[in-house]
Amino acid sequence: MTTHLKGQKMFLAGEWVNSDRSIEVRNPQDNTIIDLVPAATAEEMVNCVEEAIEGAKIAAAMPVHQRMKVINDAADYIQQHSGKFAWTIASESSKTIREATKEVGRAIQTLRISAEEARRINGETIPFDQSPGSENRIGYFYRFPIGIIGAITPFNDPLNLVAHKIGPAIASGNAIIVKPATVTPLSALLLAEAFSLAGLPAKVLSVITGHGSEIGDALVTHPAVRMITFTGGLEVGEEISRKAGLKKISMELGSNSPVIVLEDADLEDAVESSVSGAFWAAGQNCLSVQRIYIQDSIFGAFKTQFVERTNSYIVGDKQSELTDMGPLITEKEAIRVEKLVSEAIGKGAVVLAGGKRSGAFYSPTVLTDVPENCLIAKEEIFGPVVLLYSVADLDEAIVLSNSVNYGLQAGIFTKNIDLAHKAIAKLDVGGIMINDSSDYRIDAMPFGGVKNSGLGREGIKFSIQEMTEPKVVCFKLS
Ligand code: NAD
Repeated sequence: MTTHLKGQKMFLAGEWVNSDRSIEVRNPQDNTIIDLVPAATAEEMVNCVEEAIEGAKIAAAMPVHQRMKVINDAADYIQQHSGKFAWTIASESSKTIREATKEVGRAIQTLRISAEEARRINGETIPFDQSPGSENRIGYFYRFPIGIIGAITPFNDPLNLVAHKIGPAIASGNAIIVKPATVTPLSALLLAEAFSLAGLPAKVLSVITGHGSEIGDALVTHPAVRMITFTGGLEVGEEISRKAGLKKISMELGSNSPVIVLEDADLEDAVESSVSGAFWAAGQNCLSVQRIYIQDSIFGAFKTQFVERTNSYIVGDKQSELTDMGPLITEKEAIRVEKLVSEAIGKGAVVLAGGKRSGAFYSPTVLTDVPENCLIAKEEIFGPVVLLYSVADLDEAIVLSNSVNYGLQAGIFTKNIDLAHKAIAKLDVGGIMINDSSDYRIDAMPFGGVKNSGLGREGIKFSIQEMTEPKVVCFKLS
């Protein structure tokens, strides 16, 4: 069945254009086609980069007040049409309308912060006379835009993660080409419309739709593209890193996030935050709570409350305000999660809740006794499955938390400041949330991981650092 099929165009260098082939955008809930977008060719991608060469000059010449106005006007547009943006996210992605509405609010924030940070891109004076022989020199550095940025984004936050690329790029005077996730291009195209209506000069922004495997290389390997900012999975991230050559790379990849609950924790708060962190966006979230290490004295009580709360989740129609959790992005993904759980059960894991699939839906699932040699314990699940473990103390929890090859964020629940400090010092992650789950983020904070979770940091101010280079100026005085 097809609902209000329109056929979108992509936004290339300020023009809305078609391509010879198209991609069906489907609603994962019932597999209906909701729209069509162009499937760009590698040649169209190359043309797009060539247009951006001029775009980079235009972007760099935009005065800061103009950059701020355009970004704020785009944010205003989203605010005025927030219902349409939320509906689009909740249709093309697997998010519920409540989750989508929150994402729209976040995207507005991301753009407002980007506009504000534009006025704070500054340098420093340098005391050259610290070096003997340089007594008669003075100077400074300032930051200049890198040129053309290629951005590749995932399906799970189809609006805000795109805003996290476009906002800082324009704030810092760069041209940007976005290749949104193949399955969720509509939110990114709406964002392009917001910038176009806000008066962003042509050629500064392109949003090009298509298959990553067909058009990705043309963007990643083009010498005029000076930076690739990628958010997505480890496999594609590694492939892009190998191919990118001499350009800057920012990699926001996946994780397998731990949460530690010590015996002095506020149990109710720990349960509520961890359940939400595990099942937000059906677990398709880079910060998703995947492993929970609970001190043995409270394990039983935590487990009972956690399972009870999980079983109260309403799974179903994404567009209903009552729904807590929607489907996975495709049935194939739900089958992948089902297989990971089956492997764990085969090796001795016990299902405390969920463990059932229906099409693209997978029920919120709680496992315990999951042996370390299961894929689900080591790799990123990217689905609504959480693993509970009993531990003797914080030391054991830290060793186990660090035993995977990822390190994006972690959470710890305790009222003991010494233990919290120990966790801060010892956990190998990019961010630690005290008395919250791993799934906490605001758009202004530095965000990124260690190990296989990535390279570089996002969070507007930090993205701007990555998207600019210092230029040093030194005056030799006579
Ligand atoms: P993915 O890696 O499959 O795809 C990401 C993007 O890469 C898509 O736009 C895709 O079309 C493109 N792509 C695919 N092959 C390509 C190629 N050969 N060359 C260039 N581009 C190519 O990821 P996904 O399934 O869309 O998203 C899920 C992953 O993203 C998870 O691992 C999740 O943890 C991660 N993620 C990380 C963060 C973060 O900030 N750290 C945030 C959200 C999601």
